[in-house]
Amino acid sequence: MSDFDYDLFVIGGGSGGVRAARVAAGETGAKVGLAEESRYGGTCVIRGCVPKKLMVFASEYPMRVDEAQAYGWDAQIGDFDWGRFRNNLEGELDRLEGIYRKLLANSGVETFDTRAKLLDAHTVEFLDGTRKTAKHILIAVGGWPVKADVKGAELAITSNEVFHMETLPKSILILGGGYIACEFACILNGLGVKVTQYYRGAQILRGFDDEARGLVAEEMKQQGIEIHTGTNILEMEKVEGGIKVKATNGTEQVFDEVMFATGRSPNTTGLGLEEVGVKTGRRGEIVVDDYSQTSVPSVYAIGDVTDRLQLTPVAIREGMAFVETVFKGNATPVDHDLVPTAIFTRPEMGTIGMTEEQARDERPIEVYSTSFRPMQTSFIGKSERVMMKLIVCAETRRVLGCHIVAPQAGEMIQLAGVAVKMGATKEDFDRTCAVHPTMAEEIVTMKNPVRTA
Ligand code: NDP
Repeated sequence: MSDFDYDLFVIGGGSGGVRAARVAAGETGAKVGLAEESRYGGTCVIRGCVPKKLMVFASEYPMRVDEAQAYGWDAQIGDFDWGRFRNNLEGELDRLEGIYRKLLANSGVETFDTRAKLLDAHTVEFLDGTRKTAKHILIAVGGWPVKADVKGAELAITSNEVFHMETLPKSILILGGGYIACEFACILNGLGVKVTQYYRGAQILRGFDDEARGLVAEEMKQQGIEIHTGTNILEMEKVEGGIKVKATNGTEQVFDEVMFATGRSPNTTGLGLEEVGVKTGRRGEIVVDDYSQTSVPSVYAIGDVTDRLQLTPVAIREGMAFVETVFKGNATPVDHDLVPTAIFTRPEMGTIGMTEEQARDERPIEVYSTSFRPMQTSFIGKSERVMMKLIVCAETRRVLGCHIVAPQAGEMIQLAGVAVKMGATKEDFDRTCAVHPTMAEEIVTMKNPVRTA
C-alpha cells in the first residue's frame, strides 16, 4: 500500500491531462486524482480548436451559396444570426465537457473542481487549503493568450473572448500574423465582418514555407482581408463608436473591435514551481527532458505548459508517453519529429517537415511545386489558386517536407503525412497512381523539379 493519497495527481483537465489521467487509471489501475479550476477539456475543447473549427464551418456558407448560384442554383443567403450560433456553440461545448467528465469518472479518476498548486515534490494544495499527496505529479495546465504591451491593450479581446462576443462587430482589427490571427481573419471575414490585420513582420505565418504562406496571404487579400505587413499598434483609446488605433504606419483608424493574437504563454504563474525547485525557461515554460520529467524527479509536465509544440495531438501523445514510461515501465520518449499540422485559413494550409528555406540551408534539395486553379472554382471563373509542394533531398530522394495550400489541406496533409513520416522517397510518391480528378493527385504527378538548391 502506497504512503501517498494517489499514485498520480494531475493538475489541469485539458487534452493532455485528461488523457494521461484516464489512461493511467483505466489501463494500469493507478489511483489518480485531477484538479481543474475552469472547464474540463481545456483550450482545445472550450476556447480553441473545437469552437474555432465550428466557426470555420459557419463562415464558409456564404461562399458556398455564391458558388451554388454560379453553378446554376437559385440560392440565396440571409443574415447570419450570431446569437443563435453562439447559443448552439455553448450547448455543444457543454456536451463535450460532459463527455470529458464522464470519461474521467468511468476510468475511476477522482476529480476536484478547483485550482491546485505544488506545495512540495509530492504534495498539491487546493485553493481552500486541502492538501493531497501523490507519488507522481503531472502538470498539464496549458497556456494563455498574451497581449502585446501597448497603451490601451485592455480594450482588445483575445481568442478567449472571441467566442463570447455579444454581437458580431462590423469591423475588427486583428493584431498578429500567426495561426490564430490568420484563422480568425478568415473566419470573421467569412461571417461578414470587415477585417484588417496588422503584422509586424514582412509576411504573415512566419516559419512556414515562404511560397505557401505567400499564397495564403494572397488569397486572404483577394477575399477582402486588408493585411498590413510591417505594421504594429502604437496605442489605442476608446472613442465614440469604437476603438481608435494609432499605428506605426502613421494611420489612425476606428474599429468596432480589436483582437490580439500575439502568442500564448505557459500558465505557470502562482503554481509554486520556483518554491519546489521545478526549473522554468525564459518564457515561463516548464523545462522537461525527453520523457516529460522536470528537474524535480517526481514531477512531470506535458502540453502547452512545456512550450514544445503547442498542438493538442502533441499534448495527448506526451500524456500517453508519460503513462507508458512511468506506469507501464516502458521508457518512451516523445517523438516531436515530423508533426503534420494545418492552419484553418481560407484556403487551408497543411504542412509537414521542412520548409524549402530550412532544407536548402542544410543540404542539396530538389523542389517540386505546382500552383493551379482547382476544377470546382475555375469552372465558375474564380481566380483562386491552390498549391502542392514537395521538398526532396537530392541525395537520399527522401521527401523532407510537404506543403499544401488548398481547401481541405488539413485532411490531405494527415494522409500525406503518413508517407513522409515513413520516409517515403520522391519515387514512392511517383509510383503511387493518381486519384482522378482530384486536387491532391498533383502531389504524385509532379515530374520535374522547379528548382534545385
Ligand atoms: P503564434 O506564436 O503562432 O503567433 C503570434 C503572432 O503574434 C506572430 O505573428 C508574432 O509575430 C506576433 N506578435 C507576438 N508578439 C507581438 C507584439 N508584441 N506585437 C505585435 N505582434 C506580436 O501564436 P498564436 O497566438 O497565433 O497561436 C499560439 C499557438 O497555438 C500556435 O503557435 C500554435 O502552435 C497553436 N495553434 C494551433 C492551431 C492549429 O493547429 N490550427 C490553431 C491555433 C493555435 P512574429 O512572427 O514577428 O513573432
